[in-house]
Amino acid sequence: MKSESSIHSRGPAKIYSAAGFCLALILPAFAAAAQSQTAPTPAIKLDQVGYLPKSVKLALVSAPAARFRVLRVQDGASVLEGKVSPAVSDRDSGDQVASVDFSALQAPGHYCLEIPGVGRSWSFQIGDEVYARTYYLGMRAFYGQRCGTAVDLGAEFPGYRYAACHLHGGFHPSTGKTGARDNIGGWHDAGDYGRYVVNSAISVANLMWAWEFYGDRIRKIPLQIPESGRAVPDLLAETRWNLEWMLKMQDEDGGVFHKQTSEAFPGFVAPDADGTLSYVIGTGAAPFKSTCASADLAASAAIAARVFQPYDAAFAAHSLQAAERAWTWALAHPRVAFKNPKGISTGEYGDDQCGDELLWAAAELWRSTGKVEYNRYFLTHWAAFNKALELGDNWKDVACMGLWTYALAKGGDADVIAGIRKQSVDVAQKIADRTLANPYHVSLRAQDYIWGSNAVAASYGILLLIADRFAPSTAFRAAAADNLHYLLGRNTFSLSFVTQVGAHSFKHPHHRPSGALGRPWPGLLAGGPNAGRQDAALAKLPADLPPAKAYLDDQASYASNEVAINWQSAFVFLLASQLP
Ligand SMILES: [Zn+2]
Repeated sequence: MKSESSIHSRGPAKIYSAAGFCLALILPAFAAAAQSQTAPTPAIKLDQVGYLPKSVKLALVSAPAARFRVLRVQDGASVLEGKVSPAVSDRDSGDQVASVDFSALQAPGHYCLEIPGVGRSWSFQIGDEVYARTYYLGMRAFYGQRCGTAVDLGAEFPGYRYAACHLHGGFHPSTGKTGARDNIGGWHDAGDYGRYVVNSAISVANLMWAWEFYGDRIRKIPLQIPESGRAVPDLLAETRWNLEWMLKMQDEDGGVFHKQTSEAFPGFVAPDADGTLSYVIGTGAAPFKSTCASADLAASAAIAARVFQPYDAAFAAHSLQAAERAWTWALAHPRVAFKNPKGISTGEYGDDQCGDELLWAAAELWRSTGKVEYNRYFLTHWAAFNKALELGDNWKDVACMGLWTYALAKGGDADVIAGIRKQSVDVAQKIADRTLANPYHVSLRAQDYIWGSNAVAASYGILLLIADRFAPSTAFRAAAADNLHYLLGRNTFSLSFVTQVGAHSFKHPHHRPSGALGRPWPGLLAGGPNAGRQDAALAKLPADLPPAKAYLDDQASYASNEVAINWQSAFVFLLASQLP
């Protein structure tokens, strides 16, 4: 690892400066007046990071309100005044929600919203680069999940470090193999220290797709990781850290082991204090590898073959070879589901429907190679998955990734591509319409407040942005940004669901490194409200709680407050779309 001084001397400083808090930046005269008021009120909900200058700018108010004014933090001047819209009832949260439209304000700067009789908001910023630091922290969060190497966030976050972890382990008997093995690498999946191929696949795919969509913007923001400054762009270098581990999970016959974890979840200790052994885990019976993991490796390594080609042709070729071997294995073993074998109680990521993973793999391999066999497989199987476009992607349902990548590839069946594009645009229009009509301007419906609902919101954002590629639409782009605003504070809790981002952010993630340190690692997205309430902390909440309220900023609430690389990756995709 480089020294701290070299890591932190690179890159334009303005991008890394933290957004100011309202009181910290204001002039003494205004500060005295502001301090005489009460603290910012959660009744005013807005994106605590901010808004792009020319964007629609909405704040929401869950208290009786008539008029608003926007105050400039620098001098306390009122720069815009206006009327608050009439309140409407939001069934998902139970709130009465009025809206404040301050789109007319475009001048860059730091501001607060003030509503007589209600109070003052947390501060926010207007500017072209408002999301640059959040993107930086969101990507650095992956660096903070690295396994098998020393991690240190440097002088910017003193004490956020750990020594190389999980260096010891080997093959679990469920793999049909014995002995030690080089099991170093990858990202810790979530709040635990397991590593799971299927969840890794959607995560690296979202990041590499973000690169394919927004690489010209992403490359302007160095991530200060050990690989910074070399030939491979930082986002891809960070992604490669996990890809390399995924490639190691491939067996000699091309099949891919499902996961690598300890036998049971460890306690809330730092990564380097977890003394459990890390095992490669199989299905417990021949052929030991799982179909979904193998097809997912095929899909994600096929993307790597494409995106790494200009920067590291050898790694691209290695990835393609691994992808084709995994594809061949998965095609020959199309129905091997994974269930935790005897003696293993860590996350299962079970999925007995791997047809969507196979479709995705075929489509990515087609897009990367142009080989007719992959086109033939896709055209034989795609129609069964057309409805998947309604839902967006998640770790378990990846058919839409396959459909989209086919529609983004060159040389495919023109009618099929036109059909996928039209269907994607029709779905996006419905989602954009309901986002606009939703009192909180979020794409989530009542039934979407599930485990990882924040990932659902981010995935709707991805769907809207992909449809925008098929048929450019300001409505699609605005609805995608609305989901980002929701995650960054414009929600019923007036809470930024991202650690250390925004003046009022959640603080107690279900995340072992944060629990061990006693403060949250930065840039991590929470799972979000979850009406399923599968943990004891959520279960204690009132029975009639509306779905959007089923959230606790409590380390014990793994069902609403855990972090995970899959939703982190969808969040980064959304952020990348907003970079200048
Ligand atoms: Zn580790």
